[in-house]
Amino acid sequence: MQQISGTPACAGLALGPVRVITRGYSSLGRIVLEPPRETSLFKTALVLAKDEIAKLSELASESDKAIFTFQIEVLNDHGLQDEVLGYIQSGSGAAAAMERAESLYTAKIRSLPDEYLSQRAGDIQDACRRVVDILDGRPRERIVLDAPCVLIADELLPSDLLSVDRSLLLGLVTSAGSTQSHASIIARTFGIPAVVMAGPAVLNVPEGTICALDGGSGEVVLAPDEPTYARYAHRIHLAKRRTLSQERLRALPCVTRDGVGISLLANCSGPEDIARAIELGAEGGGLLRSEFLFLDGHLPDEAQQLAFYQNCIRAAAGRPITIRTLDIGADKEVAGLTLDEANPALGLRGLRFSLARPELFLTQLTALLKAGLTGPLKVMFPMVASVEDFERAMEMVEQARGILTERGEAFSDEIAFGVMIETPAAALLSDELARRAAFFSIGTNDLTQYVHAVDRVNPAVAGYYTPASPAILRLMRTVVENAAQAQIPVSVCGESAADPELALLYVKAGIRQLSMSAPSILEVKERLMEEFIVFG
Ligand code: PEP
Ligand code: MG
Repeated sequence: MQQISGTPACAGLALGPVRVITRGYSSLGRIVLEPPRETSLFKTALVLAKDEIAKLSELASESDKAIFTFQIEVLNDHGLQDEVLGYIQSGSGAAAAMERAESLYTAKIRSLPDEYLSQRAGDIQDACRRVVDILDGRPRERIVLDAPCVLIADELLPSDLLSVDRSLLLGLVTSAGSTQSHASIIARTFGIPAVVMAGPAVLNVPEGTICALDGGSGEVVLAPDEPTYARYAHRIHLAKRRTLSQERLRALPCVTRDGVGISLLANCSGPEDIARAIELGAEGGGLLRSEFLFLDGHLPDEAQQLAFYQNCIRAAAGRPITIRTLDIGADKEVAGLTLDEANPALGLRGLRFSLARPELFLTQLTALLKAGLTGPLKVMFPMVASVEDFERAMEMVEQARGILTERGEAFSDEIAFGVMIETPAAALLSDELARRAAFFSIGTNDLTQYVHAVDRVNPAVAGYYTPASPAILRLMRTVVENAAQAQIPVSVCGESAADPELALLYVKAGIRQLSMSAPSILEVKERLMEEFIVFG
């Protein structure tokens, strides 16, 4: 038995025979032709490689597409191409020339102080080796699995993981690699237990040796003894049972023991986490913070916003999503947009900012109105503190409709417009607001801040930050009653909805929709389903 300690890259347990991938460089067995012939072989291989990468990109998720875009950029790089052509001119074969350029480039990039760039060495290698494989006539699917195994390699490349049959992949161990490499990121996306930086000794293990690995602690055991084997087998068995019960839970509707149905939604920031949230059982998106599009200081135009909103709606696959209009200000500063205020939490934030910058607001509204044609969409306004605020916002919606009509562009007239209840004034005026808005969403993060006069980001007063205090619950009941009177839905979308005990208190106060970050959904569901609400 050999115990090795590596770096955890993706939590999870695996137990099975190893398959060792020694990548190996080109056999270079091919006869080297004249430089002009090698040059044209190289150029053709570049075109073919980019075409293959583009095809892989089509199958990849939104976030993985960036990997392939980067790889195509690598192959388009004139510096790299000139390096290869230089070697060919001095008599090298195209494959050998590409390998030499690749190793120089990756060594250079690995030595950079910029961690992000140095992590991209694997992507450069991946792109270059594809060209070498084409020149050598080798299959591009470098790893072909025919039985379940733990894969051991020096370093895995993104395309290895995207092309392999992942159902046969029990776990991954790399002697080098890093937790931030794209291969590790992909392993996490697919939940494949992985340990990286396990050292070169792992590469010498004979094929078929049993390997136990714990991706959470970084432990790799080669040829485990009987007790170690039994310990791993038992832990895997327990983990499977838990996954099965979670899967069952995910498929069940969230209903309390006395039959009260609760709708669980997700707080999201873009298409990727909407898709993940739906997988985790969310019934839709309860809060999409559109300001995340603006936080890098870049102002997205109407077309860019439209594309983003459409991608979010598509990711929800027919379930409704609620997009909140721009809520910058307070702790969400945007260089060049937000003001330098003494009390930013009480300043020009949320809807106030949008009303003060009508040109920005109209751009967002026209994009949203058009996006509504893609699927079910709700839109809500943050920081409403009066009936006039909501009415002014709806006047802007009217103006946006007018602009689109004038332009002759189609837009949706089925979007529901709602109010975030996150100021005490909005909660107190919820009867009047409920007669005008299509829905309410209670933002307990800010409501707590403003009701209790406690800065939500100041640790010195964290003890005063009580999002389920009697004061908050009393306001919540008022909002629920007023919403019921006007027959409009009301949800809670503050962070506290993700706390199972607070979620339970909110449900007992009459809330029937909760929106939270996706990983908390099952835990909250489990808690609510074991309780009596009305008869408890
Ligand atoms: C809230 O205030 O509860 C909320 C959801 O909005 P944010 O945290 O973005 O201010
Ligand atoms: Mg808020």
